[in-house]
Amino acid sequence: MVASGIDAALLDRFAAIVGRGHALTEPADIAPFVVERRGLWHGHTPLVLRPGSVAEVSRILALATETRTPIVPQGGNTGLVGGQIPGPEGREVVLSLARLNRIRELDPLSNTVTAEAGVVLQHLQEAADAADRLFPLSLGAQGSCQIGGNLSSNAGGTGVLAYGNARELCMGLEVVLPTGEILDDLRKLRKDNTGYDLKNLFVGAEGTLGVITAAVLKLFPRPKGREVAWIAVPSPSAALALFSRAVDRGGAGLTAFELVADIVIDFAVRHVPGAIRALGSRSPWYVLVEISSGRSPEDARDLVEQILAEGMEEGWVTDAVIAASLSQSAAFWRLREALSDSQKPEGASIKHDIAVPVASIPAFIDEAARAVASVSPAARVVCFGHMGDGNLHYNISQPVGASADEFLALYRPMNKAVHDVVRAMNGSISAEHGIGRLKRDELIATAPPVAIDLMRRVKAAFDPAGIMNPGKVI
Ligand SMILES: Cc1cc2nc3c(=O)[nH]c(=O)nc-3n(C[C@H](O)[C@H](O)[C@H](O)COP(=O)(O)OP(=O)(O)OC[C@H]3O[C@@H](n4cnc5c(N)ncnc54)[C@H](O)[C@@H]3O)c2cc1C
Repeated sequence: MVASGIDAALLDRFAAIVGRGHALTEPADIAPFVVERRGLWHGHTPLVLRPGSVAEVSRILALATETRTPIVPQGGNTGLVGGQIPGPEGREVVLSLARLNRIRELDPLSNTVTAEAGVVLQHLQEAADAADRLFPLSLGAQGSCQIGGNLSSNAGGTGVLAYGNARELCMGLEVVLPTGEILDDLRKLRKDNTGYDLKNLFVGAEGTLGVITAAVLKLFPRPKGREVAWIAVPSPSAALALFSRAVDRGGAGLTAFELVADIVIDFAVRHVPGAIRALGSRSPWYVLVEISSGRSPEDARDLVEQILAEGMEEGWVTDAVIAASLSQSAAFWRLREALSDSQKPEGASIKHDIAVPVASIPAFIDEAARAVASVSPAARVVCFGHMGDGNLHYNISQPVGASADEFLALYRPMNKAVHDVVRAMNGSISAEHGIGRLKRDELIATAPPVAIDLMRRVKAAFDPAGIMNPGKVI
């Protein structure tokens, strides 16, 4: 029997590696692995493998290379660009890393944790917390996404400003290569200048070069004080001026600086259960600021009060509230994290995950609004994001009452209009979500040809049989 493009005897050979109980072949068992949570990407596979050891991953990839069977690695299936979903033909095997979920070691003296790929991000944060340490990677999907997926997509989130993205948090990796060879580079070194930095090729590769099975990650001291403020600002320029002052005053203590347009709060309050406005008054823009102190709660409080007082004096801040309790800080962050889910009930949307130099954010917001209006004058710009990192989620919602299909027919011209502004500012069309299937063609069409050629040569060197996540990235 040939099941969806892979020979049944070959499926049996794969299944035998992990044992029948961990080789899913029933459509109902496979279903959660072939569709992503928003329902945008659907695929087919005759087989989901759930290996329980690195040795099993190695045998799977060796067999895949021998038989030229494409493999799609999958972590928590929260990626937003379709990278973790197999293609429609049913010729790819999904490799779920969920069972590799051990924290192998937490070393508080070296400030490192060695975790397997399937450890859920939130579990890692909790383990660090229990050891009086901070693992600062933090994002809306942290209850489901996994360390292997975070590294493979070089996830960002809300802690990048102070602590860096997944790449910067990664000190060492264990990777299974497409041939089945195991690259053991699980080192805890802050300094290591011994040739090419191979691990950084796998970080952000979206599963196209090999399978990450474990990583050494950086830990930090837990802040002794943390203050969160929700701030009304009249414009993105005012937000930029406030950001500059906050960096000046707060230094590394400025741990988040998020910008949110009023329309996004409007959507959240309307559609997300429990979401309420943080301030009584309305403003066209808001900023969420988090200040951390390694010294004391009073230190963090003094700093945030100083930044707000100076911001008000300068006219950059029109209203503000500092969270009065841990639960109010959590409520501010919940409101921020609810924003991604608040747009769907407003109809179709065309999304962009862009980065420009921080100083260009106000100009980007102005110019991109004009570009959007030139494509669809009544479209609604839904702009929010990690301003401190120069990264905005610049999403466009359909005009009120318009046809969703007609609006989505504008997908390409809208993307082009917004991304042209980004490119003119030397920015990035994928700041943190990656390329996957969604942006592959645009990357190939617009990146410098030399860069694409180099990426293809790297891919061919690591994965000569072309089995790793074909059709993604390049
Ligand atoms: C509500 C929500 C909020 C989000 N917020 C953010 C945010 O703020 N910042 C951000 O950067 N992202 C964000 N994301 C996107 C997503 O959560 C991240 O990209 C996350 O890092 C993906 O992890 P995952 O385990 O779900 O990976 P998956 O979605 O399963 O996979 C992502 C990619 O990595 C590959 N992959 C997975 N595991 C491995 C492995 N072990 N070895 C090799 N390749 C592998 C897959 O093939 C795929 O290409 C958000 C998503 C949601 C749903």
